[in-house]
Amino acid sequence: MNVKEERLVINSGNVFDSISGKVNPNTSIVVKDRKILWVGPTDQYEKEEGDNVIDATGKFAMPGMVECHVHIYVTGTPQYEREQLRTKTDMYHYIALNNVQKHLQTGFTCVRDAGCYPGVAPALRRIIDQGVVAGPRLVVTDKGIWQWGNQEAVAPDHMINFDREHDQVPYGVDAVKHAVRDLKYRGAQYVKTATTGGVLHGMESKVSFTLWTEEELVAIVEEAHRNDMHVASHAHGKAGIVKAVKAGIDTIEHASFLDEEAVDLLLKNDTYIIPTQTAAMSLVSPTLMQMMPPEVQKKTIEVDKQMKISHKLAFERGVKIAIGTDAGTPGNYHGNTGNEVRLMVEDVGMNTTQALQAATIEGARAIWMDEKIGSIEKGKFADILICNQNPLENINHITDYKNFSHVIKDGKIMVENGQIVYFSPKKSLPK
Ligand SMILES: [Zn+2]
Repeated sequence: MNVKEERLVINSGNVFDSISGKVNPNTSIVVKDRKILWVGPTDQYEKEEGDNVIDATGKFAMPGMVECHVHIYVTGTPQYEREQLRTKTDMYHYIALNNVQKHLQTGFTCVRDAGCYPGVAPALRRIIDQGVVAGPRLVVTDKGIWQWGNQEAVAPDHMINFDREHDQVPYGVDAVKHAVRDLKYRGAQYVKTATTGGVLHGMESKVSFTLWTEEELVAIVEEAHRNDMHVASHAHGKAGIVKAVKAGIDTIEHASFLDEEAVDLLLKNDTYIIPTQTAAMSLVSPTLMQMMPPEVQKKTIEVDKQMKISHKLAFERGVKIAIGTDAGTPGNYHGNTGNEVRLMVEDVGMNTTQALQAATIEGARAIWMDEKIGSIEKGKFADILICNQNPLENINHITDYKNFSHVIKDGKIMVENGQIVYFSPKKSLPK
């Protein structure tokens, strides 16, 4: 059965062109073999026998959204340390599947994982690509290439050992090049590093301090680019941001402390920032705050405040912005990325068109996927959302997953009204 792949047709919708920012009314989209075959005025659509037609009259169709920064193996529970102690590493595969499906259900058809338990993310990517389970398109790294040494790890030994399993800590030019090649071999599509400490890291961790030498960072970038991988760097403080941008890193994650000079550099190098405002916003909630040591509380409040100022400044000056939440960090659950899109309007100052562009084509460009996804164009993968209500008119519609009557990925209807409806084809079952 089903030898000939049926065409999927979305008829008469208002289709969002994420490149121009315009909406084309009465437009049809024809999908075949995972890809967009044709887009044009509905009266020019040539019907074929067997076409599976979705009537999108009065509805709004847009490209599937791109979430550029999550950690798929952790749930986002405030009790994150306890979760780590209670979870067997093999369980991460199933937790990750559950988490990525939440992104799919909420309209994100492409998700970049920013650091996961070794092996989990590349394996899940392959399983989803094979059509075994419903899930978003994954762009994964594996072990982070980390610069330890600028902070004291304030944790029991077994947790420090867990971190060592989780990340690579090379030093010197040859070692970092080896680390990049090892990532490629392990199935990573890009490289994740860090040029500053983190908000949650030990009390001595400074979010402004950076340890990599310039030569090491440049070597990471050169080796990654040579292997067709982009590089993302976690960076809160200005010194680490500047160092990363100068080394040619492609996306700056968090970008919390920016000033005019840092913005000049981001513009000069065409570097993307991924704001992850949701991460800081989740941490400053009273429940989370009372669980943190006093030093971390202080640091978190400062980062949350500065992020809003920095991202607004960056946007006003024209820095490229894509969407990411850092979901998986404490209090930051998967499936809330629509809220980050809303924050781009409320905190950063984008209009709704710009926010939807950040969530689609800009996300695709930031992670080197724009030849394949990010817009509804002939030849691209058919990752499409059909919305009952138009988020351009009210950005809150992007946060309501029930607003998506259909989430289509790879030309398959994966989600209808929030529920997963895609299951592996029955043809593999015995007769
Ligand atoms: Zn992260």
